Amino acid sequence: MNQIDDAVKAIKSAQRILLATHVVPDPDAIGSTAALGLVLKEHGKSFVIVCDDPVPSDLRFVPGSDLFERSVPDGFSPDLFIGLDASDRERLGKISMPYLNDSALLTINIDHHITNLNYASINLVDPGAAATSELLIRLIDALGIAVSPDIAIALMAALVGDTRAFSTNSVTSKTLAVAARLVESGADVAEIINSVLYRRTVDQLRLWALALNTLQIEDGVIWTVVSHESRKALGLHQKGVNGISNLLLSAEEAAVSATFFEDHEGRVEISFRSRPGYNVAEVALSLGGGGHALAAGCTIDGPIDAAVGRVIGLLKKVERQPPGVE
Ligand code: 5GP
Ligand code: MN
Repeated sequence: MNQIDDAVKAIKSAQRILLATHVVPDPDAIGSTAALGLVLKEHGKSFVIVCDDPVPSDLRFVPGSDLFERSVPDGFSPDLFIGLDASDRERLGKISMPYLNDSALLTINIDHHITNLNYASINLVDPGAAATSELLIRLIDALGIAVSPDIAIALMAALVGDTRAFSTNSVTSKTLAVAARLVESGADVAEIINSVLYRRTVDQLRLWALALNTLQIEDGVIWTVVSHESRKALGLHQKGVNGISNLLLSAEEAAVSATFFEDHEGRVEISFRSRPGYNVAEVALSLGGGGHALAAGCTIDGPIDAAVGRVIGLLKKVERQPPGVE
C-alpha cells in the first residue's frame, strides 16, 4: 500500500493536524484515534482530536482518551485532517464537516470498512484488517515511532472491541500477530478484554433487559425495538444499546439480528449483525449507513414503527451467499 508513503509524507510535513473519529464512538474509534494522537505527541506535532460525542465512561481508561475535544479550539487552523474508523464524511459528524468540505485541505482517511467511500485525498483503507488499529500500526511503523506501552494499550482496546476479544471471523493470523506485538509492547490483554467487554453499569443491564424483553423473531430475522418512550419510563438515559445485536444473534434460530434504538429526536439508530454467508453491509449501505458484511449499522428517519416495518422487510430478503464470499 504505497498510500502509506503518501500519508507519512503528509504527516511529516504538516504543522497542525486535526484528528477526528466517528459519532457515537466505539473502542476502535477511541483506541485508534487516541493511539495516533499519542504518536503525534511523540513526533512533537501540534494536533487536536475531535469527536461529536463524548468518550464513553467505560473507555476513559484508554491512554490518550483525555485528548478528545468537543470542538476545535479558536485559532487552531489545521493544514492536515485525518479521519479514523469512519467509512464516509457524514459518519465523522458535524465538527468535521467544514474541514472535509474545504477542498484546499489535505485529508487522510484511515479505515477498514468494506463500505468505505474513499472520501479523502489519501485513503488508507483495508477491509481485510479486523480493526482500524490493525491497519494503523503499519502507519506508526512507517513513521518510525516506537510503540510505547500507552500506545499499545490504546491499539489493543481498539482491536479487542472490534473483534469482540478475537472471536469474530474477521480475525486473521495478521490480527493475532499485531496482538502479540502489542502484548510484547506492554498491553495486558486479559485486563483490556475485561475493561472493554465485561464492565457495564447497572443501567446498561436494565436497558438490555428492556431490549431482550421485547425481542421478536420471524423467518430467521431476530430484532428488538427500544423506543424513546420506553427508556424514559424507566429513567434510562444512555445512547445506543451496545452489544444487544450480538446477543440476539446468539439465538440458534436466528441468521440476522437488528436492534432499533429511537433517539430523543425520533431518529432511529439501527445495529445489524449476521451469520457468515449473509451480508448486512449492503442493507446498511442502501439505508445511508455502512459497516462490514457481518456487522453494520445506519441511522434513518422515524417514525419508529414505519422504520422497523421497512427494515425488517429488507432483512427478510437478505440473500445467503456461498461460503467464503463476504
Ligand atoms: P455497531 O452495531 O457496533 O454500532 O456497528 C457495527 C458496524 O457498523 C461498525 O463497524 C460501525 O462502524 C458501522 N456502522 C454503524 N452505524 C453506522 C452508520 O450510521 N454509518 C456507517 N457508515 N457505519 C455504521
Ligand atoms: Mn472499526
